[in-house]
Amino acid sequence: MATILLVEDDDMIASGLEYALGQEGYAVVCRTGVRAALEAVEKESFSLGIIDLGLPDGTGFDVCRALRAKGTPVVFLTAVDDEANTVRGLEMGADDYITKPFRLRELIARVGAVLRRAGGEAPSEIALNSEIMVDPLRGKVYRLGAELILTALEYRLLLTFISHRGQVLSRTQLLEGIWDVGGGFVEDNTLTVYVRRLREKLGDDSQNPTIIKTVRGMGYRLD
Ligand code: CA
Repeated sequence: MATILLVEDDDMIASGLEYALGQEGYAVVCRTGVRAALEAVEKESFSLGIIDLGLPDGTGFDVCRALRAKGTPVVFLTAVDDEANTVRGLEMGADDYITKPFRLRELIARVGAVLRRAGGEAPSEIALNSEIMVDPLRGKVYRLGAELILTALEYRLLLTFISHRGQVLSRTQLLEGIWDVGGGFVEDNTLTVYVRRLREKLGDDSQNPTIIKTVRGMGYRLD
């Protein structure tokens, strides 16, 4: 799965983008400043960086340089009428730039295009086990080739697990993951019900689950 490093200090933009990209099946790592972003670049490898230029502790150019040194494609977020910096970013090897304010659909289309150019790293099918296949591009889930019908919330829950595969997710993290951007609220005890239903649909035995595991006292984990 493609993992995107998002470096943006505006909370509203960062959380909106994280959500939208997650819905497209990308794993997103968010950082709000240059130093934290550079640490992330050192530790992990990313499929793509989306980098805001104006950051509290420097400019996005430093992050761009580090990503380009590892051959990672970069898309800049720039302010309107910042032609000088846009040109500088492209000269540094950025693959594309998006002017704020932008439309999410446009950004996602451009991100997909850059990833395809970079070598077909747009998210493709993800196998949960030998039976279950998730196709995030089409938003579909299959079990032994037959499509499973998930509700929007169950699907969002599954994507939250997929983008943090192997990690224990607390109930709070899962609730944030399925939080409706429109402001809908999911009750904590409802989460238990959603996890149970998702397990049922995936054919996971809730007494002895092998796909979505319960980690006692901590939360759940997708292996
Ligand atoms: Ca900024």
